Amino acid sequence: MDTEPFLMSNLAQSQELDQRVIVAGTGPVGLIAALAFADAGFRVSLIGPAANIQDGRTTALMNPALAMLDRLGVLKPLAHKAAPLKVMRIVDATGRLIRSPVVTFRASEIDEHRFGLNMPNTVLNQTLADTVAAQPAIEWRKSLVSSWRLEADRAIAALSDGHEVESRLAVAADGRLSQARQAAGIAVSTRPYPQAALVLNFTHTSDHAFTSTEFHTETGPFTQVPLPGKRSSLVWVVKPETAQELTALDNETLSMRIEKKMQSMLGRVTVESGRQIYPLSAATPWRFAHNRVALVGEAAHVFPPIGAQGLNLGIRDIDDLIGVAQQNRADPGSANALAAYDFKRRPDILARSSAVNLLNMTLLSDMLPAQMARSAGLDVLRAFAPLRAFFMREGLRPGSGFSAVTGALRK
Ligand SMILES: Cc1cc2nc3c(=O)[nH]c(=O)nc-3n(C[C@H](O)[C@H](O)[C@H](O)COP(=O)(O)OP(=O)(O)OC[C@H]3O[C@@H](n4cnc5c(N)ncnc54)[C@H](O)[C@@H]3O)c2cc1C
Repeated sequence: MDTEPFLMSNLAQSQELDQRVIVAGTGPVGLIAALAFADAGFRVSLIGPAANIQDGRTTALMNPALAMLDRLGVLKPLAHKAAPLKVMRIVDATGRLIRSPVVTFRASEIDEHRFGLNMPNTVLNQTLADTVAAQPAIEWRKSLVSSWRLEADRAIAALSDGHEVESRLAVAADGRLSQARQAAGIAVSTRPYPQAALVLNFTHTSDHAFTSTEFHTETGPFTQVPLPGKRSSLVWVVKPETAQELTALDNETLSMRIEKKMQSMLGRVTVESGRQIYPLSAATPWRFAHNRVALVGEAAHVFPPIGAQGLNLGIRDIDDLIGVAQQNRADPGSANALAAYDFKRRPDILARSSAVNLLNMTLLSDMLPAQMARSAGLDVLRAFAPLRAFFMREGLRPGSGFSAVTGALRK
Protein backbone atom coordinates (compact mmCIF):
# COMPACT_ATOMS: atom_id res chain seq x y z
CA MET A 1 0.00 0.00 0.00
CA ASP A 2 1.25 3.47 -0.85
CA THR A 3 1.38 5.30 2.52
CA GLU A 4 2.76 8.61 1.15
CA PRO A 5 -0.58 10.28 0.22
CA PHE A 6 -1.98 9.18 3.59
CA LEU A 7 0.96 10.72 5.49
CA MET A 8 0.75 13.89 3.37
CA SER A 9 -2.93 14.28 4.11
CA ASN A 10 -2.28 13.70 7.83
CA LEU A 11 0.43 16.37 7.76
CA ALA A 12 -1.84 18.82 5.93
CA GLN A 13 -4.60 18.19 8.48
CA SER A 14 -2.23 18.76 11.37
CA GLN A 15 -0.91 22.01 9.82
CA GLU A 16 -4.48 23.17 9.23
CA LEU A 17 -5.23 22.44 12.91
CA ASP A 18 -2.12 24.37 14.06
CA GLN A 19 -3.12 27.45 12.08
CA ARG A 20 -6.82 27.46 12.94
CA VAL A 21 -8.29 29.25 15.93
CA ILE A 22 -11.88 28.95 17.12
CA VAL A 23 -13.40 32.19 18.42
CA ALA A 24 -16.68 31.56 20.27
CA GLY A 25 -18.91 34.62 20.69
CA THR A 26 -19.77 37.49 18.35
CA GLY A 27 -20.06 40.45 20.71
CA PRO A 28 -17.55 43.24 20.01
CA VAL A 29 -14.72 41.27 21.64
CA GLY A 30 -15.30 38.11 19.56
CA LEU A 31 -15.49 40.12 16.31
CA ILE A 32 -12.30 42.06 17.12
CA ALA A 33 -10.53 38.85 18.20
CA ALA A 34 -11.46 37.16 14.90
CA LEU A 35 -10.10 40.12 12.92
CA ALA A 36 -6.91 40.28 14.98
CA PHE A 37 -6.18 36.55 14.58
CA ALA A 38 -6.84 36.75 10.83
CA ASP A 39 -4.53 39.78 10.66
CA ALA A 40 -1.84 37.75 12.47
CA GLY A 41 -2.03 35.03 9.79
CA PHE A 42 -4.33 32.49 11.47
CA ARG A 43 -7.46 30.96 9.93
CA VAL A 44 -10.47 31.64 12.14
CA SER A 45 -13.70 29.73 12.78
CA LEU A 46 -15.94 32.37 14.32
CA ILE A 47 -19.01 30.95 16.03
CA GLY A 48 -21.93 33.08 17.18
CA PRO A 49 -25.13 34.82 16.06
CA ALA A 50 -25.33 37.88 13.77
CA ALA A 51 -23.91 41.06 15.37
CA ASN A 52 -26.22 42.97 17.71
CA ILE A 53 -27.12 46.15 15.87
CA GLN A 54 -30.00 47.03 18.21
CA ASP A 55 -27.75 47.88 21.18
CA GLY A 56 -28.59 51.48 22.13
CA ARG A 57 -25.47 51.93 24.32
CA THR A 58 -22.39 53.85 23.31
CA THR A 59 -18.80 52.82 24.00
CA ALA A 60 -15.90 55.09 24.84
CA LEU A 61 -12.72 53.57 23.45
CA MET A 62 -9.37 55.01 24.45
CA ASN A 63 -6.49 55.77 22.04
CA PRO A 64 -4.63 52.42 22.38
CA ALA A 65 -7.85 50.49 21.64
CA LEU A 66 -8.49 52.82 18.69
CA ALA A 67 -4.97 52.11 17.38
CA MET A 68 -5.85 48.39 17.32
CA LEU A 69 -9.14 49.10 15.47
CA ASP A 70 -7.23 51.26 13.00
CA ARG A 71 -4.73 48.46 12.33
CA LEU A 72 -7.65 46.12 11.63
CA GLY A 73 -9.31 48.58 9.18
CA VAL A 74 -12.28 49.28 11.45
CA LEU A 75 -11.61 52.82 12.65
CA LYS A 76 -11.89 54.82 9.41
CA PRO A 77 -15.48 53.85 8.55
CA LEU A 78 -16.75 54.71 12.05
CA ALA A 79 -14.60 57.65 13.18
CA HIS A 80 -16.89 60.33 11.70
CA LYS A 81 -19.84 58.89 13.65
CA ALA A 82 -17.96 59.15 16.98
CA ALA A 83 -17.13 62.11 19.23
CA PRO A 84 -13.67 62.84 20.63
CA LEU A 85 -13.25 62.78 24.42
CA LYS A 86 -11.02 65.69 25.36
CA VAL A 87 -11.93 66.38 28.98
CA MET A 88 -13.19 64.06 31.72
CA ARG A 89 -14.65 65.45 34.91
CA ILE A 90 -15.64 63.78 38.18
CA VAL A 91 -18.23 65.59 40.29
CA ASP A 92 -19.04 64.39 43.79
CA ALA A 93 -22.82 64.59 43.95
CA THR A 94 -23.22 62.28 46.94
CA GLY A 95 -24.52 64.92 49.35
CA ARG A 96 -22.65 63.04 52.10
CA LEU A 97 -20.84 64.53 55.06
CA ILE A 98 -17.51 64.21 53.30
CA ARG A 99 -17.54 65.37 49.70
CA SER A 100 -14.74 65.66 47.18
CA PRO A 101 -13.88 68.63 44.98
CA VAL A 102 -14.46 68.46 41.21
CA VAL A 103 -11.53 66.74 39.48
CA THR A 104 -10.87 67.54 35.83
CA PHE A 105 -8.63 65.50 33.54
CA ARG A 106 -7.59 67.12 30.26
CA ALA A 107 -6.01 65.10 27.45
CA SER A 108 -3.82 68.12 26.63
CA GLU A 109 -2.15 67.77 30.06
CA ILE A 110 -0.49 64.57 28.83
CA ASP A 111 0.09 65.86 25.27
CA GLU A 112 -2.76 63.90 23.70
CA HIS A 113 -5.34 65.69 21.54
CA ARG A 114 -8.03 63.35 22.90
CA PHE A 115 -8.35 60.43 25.34
CA GLY A 116 -10.41 58.47 22.85
CA LEU A 117 -13.70 58.38 20.93
CA ASN A 118 -17.25 57.70 22.08
CA MET A 119 -19.29 55.79 19.49
CA PRO A 120 -22.75 54.21 19.24
CA ASN A 121 -22.60 50.42 19.70
CA THR A 122 -24.84 50.04 16.63
CA VAL A 123 -22.12 51.70 14.52
CA LEU A 124 -19.28 49.78 16.18
CA ASN A 125 -20.97 46.38 15.88
CA GLN A 126 -22.13 46.94 12.28
CA THR A 127 -18.68 48.12 11.18
CA LEU A 128 -17.02 45.14 12.88
CA ALA A 129 -19.49 42.73 11.25
CA ASP A 130 -18.90 44.27 7.78
CA THR A 131 -15.12 44.06 8.21
CA VAL A 132 -15.33 40.43 9.38
CA ALA A 133 -17.52 39.56 6.36
CA ALA A 134 -14.88 41.00 4.03
CA GLN A 135 -12.01 39.00 5.63
CA PRO A 136 -11.46 35.74 3.70
CA ALA A 137 -9.49 34.08 6.54
CA ILE A 138 -12.59 34.16 8.79
CA GLU A 139 -15.36 31.62 8.42
CA TRP A 140 -18.35 32.92 10.42
CA ARG A 141 -20.78 30.18 11.38
CA LYS A 142 -23.94 31.92 12.59
CA SER A 143 -24.68 29.20 15.09
CA LEU A 144 -24.02 28.53 18.79
CA VAL A 145 -21.54 26.18 20.39
CA SER A 146 -23.74 23.57 22.04
CA SER A 147 -20.91 21.67 23.76
CA TRP A 148 -17.12 21.49 24.02
CA ARG A 149 -14.70 18.55 24.09
CA LEU A 150 -11.34 19.69 25.36
CA GLU A 151 -8.64 17.13 24.64
CA ALA A 152 -4.92 17.08 25.32
CA ASP A 153 -4.00 18.36 21.85
CA ARG A 154 -7.15 20.13 20.61
CA ALA A 155 -10.47 21.82 21.40
CA ILE A 156 -13.54 20.55 19.59
CA ALA A 157 -16.74 22.62 19.44
CA ALA A 158 -20.02 20.91 18.59
CA LEU A 159 -22.34 23.48 17.02
CA SER A 160 -26.10 23.71 17.22
CA ASP A 161 -26.23 23.45 13.38
CA GLY A 162 -24.83 19.90 13.69
CA HIS A 163 -21.25 20.72 12.55
CA GLU A 164 -18.05 20.30 14.55
CA VAL A 165 -14.97 22.53 14.38
CA GLU A 166 -11.61 21.92 16.01
CA SER A 167 -8.42 23.84 16.67
CA ARG A 168 -5.42 23.97 19.01
CA LEU A 169 -6.73 27.12 20.70
CA ALA A 170 -10.31 28.10 21.56
CA VAL A 171 -10.87 31.79 22.33
CA ALA A 172 -13.78 32.22 24.75
CA ALA A 173 -15.45 35.52 23.81
CA ASP A 174 -18.85 34.12 24.77
CA GLY A 175 -19.62 36.68 27.46
CA ARG A 176 -20.22 36.75 31.20
CA LEU A 177 -21.86 33.29 31.39
CA SER A 178 -19.14 31.74 29.19
CA GLN A 179 -19.89 28.13 28.42
CA ALA A 180 -16.32 27.63 27.15
CA ARG A 181 -14.98 28.83 30.52
CA GLN A 182 -17.16 26.34 32.31
CA ALA A 183 -16.12 23.51 29.96
CA ALA A 184 -12.46 24.36 30.70
CA GLY A 185 -13.16 23.89 34.41
CA ILE A 186 -12.34 27.50 35.30
CA ALA A 187 -14.10 28.60 38.49
CA VAL A 188 -15.39 32.16 38.78
CA SER A 189 -16.17 34.44 41.73
CA THR A 190 -19.32 36.44 41.14
CA ARG A 191 -20.96 39.26 43.04
CA PRO A 192 -24.33 40.78 42.14
CA TYR A 193 -24.66 44.50 42.95
CA PRO A 194 -27.87 46.15 44.19
CA GLN A 195 -27.66 48.41 41.14
CA ALA A 196 -28.85 48.69 37.55
CA ALA A 197 -27.75 51.03 34.77
CA LEU A 198 -30.37 53.00 32.88
CA VAL A 199 -28.91 53.78 29.45
CA LEU A 200 -30.22 56.33 26.94
CA ASN A 201 -29.14 59.14 24.63
CA PHE A 202 -30.27 62.76 24.77
CA THR A 203 -29.94 66.08 22.96
CA HIS A 204 -29.08 69.34 24.75
CA THR A 205 -29.08 73.03 23.90
CA SER A 206 -25.52 73.88 25.09
CA ASP A 207 -22.26 72.54 23.66
CA HIS A 208 -20.61 69.66 25.49
CA ALA A 209 -17.16 70.84 24.36
CA PHE A 210 -16.18 67.14 24.10
CA THR A 211 -16.35 66.83 27.87
CA SER A 212 -17.62 63.77 29.73
CA THR A 213 -18.91 64.33 33.25
CA GLU A 214 -19.24 61.54 35.79
CA PHE A 215 -21.40 62.51 38.79
CA HIS A 216 -20.77 60.24 41.75
CA THR A 217 -23.99 59.61 43.66
CA GLU A 218 -24.93 57.37 46.62
CA THR A 219 -26.40 54.77 44.23
CA GLY A 220 -23.52 54.82 41.72
CA PRO A 221 -22.25 57.04 38.92
CA PHE A 222 -24.37 59.15 36.57
CA THR A 223 -22.18 59.50 33.49
CA GLN A 224 -22.72 61.78 30.48
CA VAL A 225 -20.48 61.11 27.49
CA PRO A 226 -20.42 63.32 24.36
CA LEU A 227 -21.72 62.18 20.96
CA PRO A 228 -21.34 64.14 17.68
CA GLY A 229 -23.33 67.41 17.66
CA LYS A 230 -25.31 68.55 20.66
CA ARG A 231 -26.00 64.98 21.76
CA SER A 232 -24.73 62.85 24.63
CA SER A 233 -25.17 59.35 25.99
CA LEU A 234 -26.08 58.65 29.59
CA VAL A 235 -25.34 55.73 31.91
CA TRP A 236 -27.28 56.32 35.12
CA VAL A 237 -26.58 53.78 37.86
CA VAL A 238 -29.37 53.51 40.42
CA LYS A 239 -31.20 50.90 42.53
CA PRO A 240 -32.94 48.35 40.24
CA GLU A 241 -36.40 49.55 41.32
CA THR A 242 -35.47 53.18 40.61
CA ALA A 243 -34.32 52.19 37.11
CA GLN A 244 -37.77 50.71 36.50
CA GLU A 245 -39.46 53.87 37.82
CA LEU A 246 -37.28 56.13 35.66
CA THR A 247 -37.93 54.14 32.47
CA ALA A 248 -41.66 54.38 33.11
CA LEU A 249 -41.55 58.23 33.13
CA ASP A 250 -42.78 60.21 30.12
CA ASN A 251 -40.10 61.91 27.97
CA GLU A 252 -40.65 65.39 29.40
CA THR A 253 -40.41 64.36 33.07
CA LEU A 254 -37.36 62.17 32.46
CA SER A 255 -35.66 64.97 30.48
CA MET A 256 -36.25 67.37 33.38
CA ARG A 257 -34.90 64.86 35.91
CA ILE A 258 -31.71 64.47 33.85
CA GLU A 259 -31.31 68.22 33.35
CA LYS A 260 -31.67 68.79 37.10
CA LYS A 261 -29.20 66.03 37.90
CA MET A 262 -26.72 67.68 35.52
CA GLN A 263 -27.26 71.06 37.19
CA SER A 264 -28.32 72.36 33.72
CA MET A 265 -24.67 72.40 32.62
CA LEU A 266 -25.74 71.30 29.10
CA GLY A 267 -28.83 73.53 28.99
CA ARG A 268 -32.23 72.10 28.06
CA VAL A 269 -32.24 68.28 27.83
CA THR A 270 -34.51 66.17 25.58
CA VAL A 271 -34.29 62.38 25.84
CA GLU A 272 -34.32 60.37 22.62
CA SER A 273 -36.36 57.21 22.16
CA GLY A 274 -34.86 53.92 23.38
CA ARG A 275 -34.18 53.22 27.08
CA GLN A 276 -32.32 50.12 28.22
CA ILE A 277 -31.66 48.69 31.69
CA TYR A 278 -28.57 46.62 32.58
CA PRO A 279 -28.40 44.87 35.99
CA LEU A 280 -24.88 45.25 37.41
CA SER A 281 -22.61 42.54 38.75
CA ALA A 282 -18.95 41.61 39.00
CA ALA A 283 -17.24 38.37 38.01
CA THR A 284 -13.59 37.35 38.17
CA PRO A 285 -12.39 33.93 37.00
CA TRP A 286 -9.70 32.20 39.03
CA ARG A 287 -7.51 31.87 35.95
CA PHE A 288 -7.64 33.36 32.47
CA ALA A 289 -6.75 30.29 30.41
CA HIS A 290 -6.81 26.53 30.87
CA ASN A 291 -7.40 23.30 28.94
CA ARG A 292 -6.99 24.84 25.42
CA VAL A 293 -9.33 27.77 26.25
CA ALA A 294 -8.24 31.42 26.64
CA LEU A 295 -10.75 33.90 28.11
CA VAL A 296 -11.23 37.38 26.61
CA GLY A 297 -13.71 40.21 27.21
CA GLU A 298 -16.56 39.62 29.63
CA ALA A 299 -15.72 35.92 29.81
CA ALA A 300 -12.57 37.15 31.61
CA HIS A 301 -13.87 40.15 33.59
CA VAL A 302 -17.20 41.73 34.49
CA PHE A 303 -17.50 44.91 36.56
CA PRO A 304 -19.77 47.98 36.72
CA PRO A 305 -19.57 50.53 33.87
CA ILE A 306 -17.43 53.13 35.65
CA GLY A 307 -14.66 54.97 33.81
CA ALA A 308 -15.22 53.22 30.43
CA GLN A 309 -12.99 50.23 31.15
CA GLY A 310 -14.70 47.00 29.99
CA LEU A 311 -14.19 46.84 26.23
CA ASN A 312 -10.86 48.68 26.46
CA LEU A 313 -9.65 45.90 28.76
CA GLY A 314 -11.12 43.28 26.40
CA ILE A 315 -9.11 44.73 23.52
CA ARG A 316 -5.95 44.52 25.64
CA ASP A 317 -6.80 40.82 26.29
CA ILE A 318 -6.87 40.26 22.53
CA ASP A 319 -3.62 42.16 21.99
CA ASP A 320 -1.80 40.03 24.58
CA LEU A 321 -3.33 36.79 23.32
CA ILE A 322 -2.22 37.52 19.75
CA GLY A 323 1.32 38.21 21.04
CA VAL A 324 1.40 34.86 22.87
CA ALA A 325 -0.12 32.96 19.91
CA GLN A 326 2.48 34.43 17.55
CA GLN A 327 5.27 33.28 19.85
CA ASN A 328 3.74 29.77 20.00
CA ARG A 329 2.67 29.30 16.39
CA ALA A 330 3.27 25.55 16.44
CA ASP A 331 0.67 25.18 19.18
CA PRO A 332 -0.99 28.43 20.37
CA GLY A 333 -3.24 26.46 22.78
CA SER A 334 -0.43 24.53 24.49
CA ALA A 335 -0.17 24.56 28.29
CA ASN A 336 2.92 26.81 28.04
CA ALA A 337 1.20 29.32 25.77
CA LEU A 338 -1.88 29.45 28.00
CA ALA A 339 0.27 29.88 31.13
CA ALA A 340 2.07 32.78 29.41
CA TYR A 341 -1.28 34.40 28.56
CA ASP A 342 -2.57 33.97 32.11
CA PHE A 343 0.64 35.46 33.53
CA LYS A 344 0.46 38.45 31.16
CA ARG A 345 -3.18 39.33 31.72
CA ARG A 346 -3.46 38.72 35.47
CA PRO A 347 -2.05 42.07 36.78
CA ASP A 348 -3.98 44.28 34.35
CA ILE A 349 -7.32 42.49 34.79
CA LEU A 350 -7.07 42.23 38.57
CA ALA A 351 -5.92 45.84 38.97
CA ARG A 352 -8.74 47.25 36.79
CA SER A 353 -11.45 45.02 38.26
CA SER A 354 -10.40 45.78 41.85
CA ALA A 355 -10.16 49.53 41.25
CA VAL A 356 -13.61 49.74 39.65
CA ASN A 357 -15.24 47.46 42.25
CA LEU A 358 -13.60 49.36 45.09
CA LEU A 359 -14.71 52.74 43.78
CA ASN A 360 -18.23 51.43 43.30
CA MET A 361 -18.30 50.07 46.85
CA THR A 362 -17.03 53.32 48.37
CA LEU A 363 -19.93 55.09 46.61
CA LEU A 364 -22.44 52.64 48.03
CA SER A 365 -20.89 52.54 51.48
CA ASP A 366 -22.27 54.66 54.30
CA MET A 367 -19.09 54.09 56.28
CA LEU A 368 -17.20 57.28 57.02
CA PRO A 369 -13.71 55.78 56.46
CA ALA A 370 -14.68 54.65 52.95
CA GLN A 371 -16.03 58.11 52.10
CA MET A 372 -12.92 59.76 53.55
CA ALA A 373 -10.61 57.54 51.51
CA ARG A 374 -12.48 58.29 48.28
CA SER A 375 -12.63 61.99 49.02
CA ALA A 376 -8.95 62.20 50.00
CA GLY A 377 -7.95 60.31 46.85
CA LEU A 378 -9.89 62.67 44.59
CA ASP A 379 -8.62 65.71 46.49
CA VAL A 380 -5.00 64.70 45.99
CA LEU A 381 -5.70 64.06 42.29
CA ARG A 382 -7.27 67.49 41.89
CA ALA A 383 -4.44 69.32 43.60
CA PHE A 384 -1.40 67.46 42.31
CA ALA A 385 -0.91 67.70 38.53
CA PRO A 386 1.91 65.10 38.21
CA LEU A 387 -0.25 62.49 39.98
CA ARG A 388 -3.17 63.38 37.71
CA ALA A 389 -0.91 62.95 34.67
CA PHE A 390 0.28 59.59 36.06
CA PHE A 391 -3.29 58.32 36.41
CA MET A 392 -4.29 59.62 32.99
CA ARG A 393 -1.34 57.83 31.36
CA GLU A 394 -2.01 54.63 33.32
CA GLY A 395 -5.69 54.90 32.39
CA LEU A 396 -4.79 55.00 28.70
CA ARG A 397 -1.90 52.53 28.62
CA PRO A 398 -1.04 50.40 31.69
CA GLY A 399 2.64 50.86 32.52
CA SER A 400 3.02 54.13 30.62
CA GLY A 401 2.44 56.22 33.77
CA PHE A 402 5.36 54.42 35.42
CA SER A 403 7.64 54.81 32.37
CA ALA A 404 6.87 58.56 32.20
CA VAL A 405 7.80 58.87 35.90
CA THR A 406 11.06 56.89 35.53
CA GLY A 407 11.87 58.88 32.35
CA ALA A 408 11.39 62.16 34.22
CA LEU A 409 13.48 60.93 37.18
CA ARG A 410 16.29 59.87 34.82
CA LYS A 411 16.24 63.36 33.24
C1 LIG B 1 -24.10 50.32 30.39
C2 LIG B 1 -22.74 49.91 29.94
C3 LIG B 1 -21.88 50.83 29.39
C4 LIG B 1 -20.60 50.45 28.99
N1 LIG B 1 -19.74 51.40 28.47
C5 LIG B 1 -18.49 51.04 28.13
C6 LIG B 1 -17.57 52.02 27.62
O1 LIG B 1 -17.92 53.19 27.44
N2 LIG B 1 -16.30 51.62 27.32
C7 LIG B 1 -15.88 50.33 27.51
O2 LIG B 1 -14.72 50.03 27.24
N3 LIG B 1 -16.74 49.39 27.99
C8 LIG B 1 -18.01 49.71 28.29
N4 LIG B 1 -18.87 48.76 28.75
C9 LIG B 1 -18.43 47.35 28.82
C10 LIG B 1 -18.59 46.69 27.45
O3 LIG B 1 -19.90 46.89 26.98
C11 LIG B 1 -18.30 45.19 27.56
O4 LIG B 1 -16.99 45.02 28.04
C12 LIG B 1 -18.39 44.49 26.20
O5 LIG B 1 -19.66 44.66 25.64
C13 LIG B 1 -18.12 43.01 26.36
O6 LIG B 1 -18.19 42.42 25.09
P1 LIG B 1 -18.06 40.85 24.91
O7 LIG B 1 -17.97 40.64 23.42
O8 LIG B 1 -16.99 40.30 25.78
O9 LIG B 1 -19.41 40.24 25.50
P2 LIG B 1 -20.89 40.25 24.88
O10 LIG B 1 -21.16 41.53 24.18
O11 LIG B 1 -21.78 39.82 25.98
O12 LIG B 1 -20.86 39.12 23.75
C14 LIG B 1 -20.91 37.74 24.04
C15 LIG B 1 -21.29 37.04 22.77
O13 LIG B 1 -21.18 35.64 22.97
C16 LIG B 1 -22.27 35.01 22.32
N5 LIG B 1 -22.43 33.67 22.90
C17 LIG B 1 -22.85 33.34 24.14
N6 LIG B 1 -22.90 31.99 24.27
C18 LIG B 1 -22.46 31.48 23.10
C19 LIG B 1 -22.30 30.15 22.59
N7 LIG B 1 -22.59 29.08 23.32
N8 LIG B 1 -21.85 29.99 21.33
C20 LIG B 1 -21.55 31.07 20.55
N9 LIG B 1 -21.71 32.35 20.96
C21 LIG B 1 -22.16 32.54 22.21
C22 LIG B 1 -23.44 35.96 22.55
O14 LIG B 1 -24.46 35.73 21.63
C23 LIG B 1 -22.72 37.30 22.31
O15 LIG B 1 -22.69 37.58 20.94
C24 LIG B 1 -20.17 49.12 29.15
C25 LIG B 1 -21.03 48.17 29.72
C26 LIG B 1 -22.31 48.56 30.12
C27 LIG B 1 -23.22 47.53 30.74
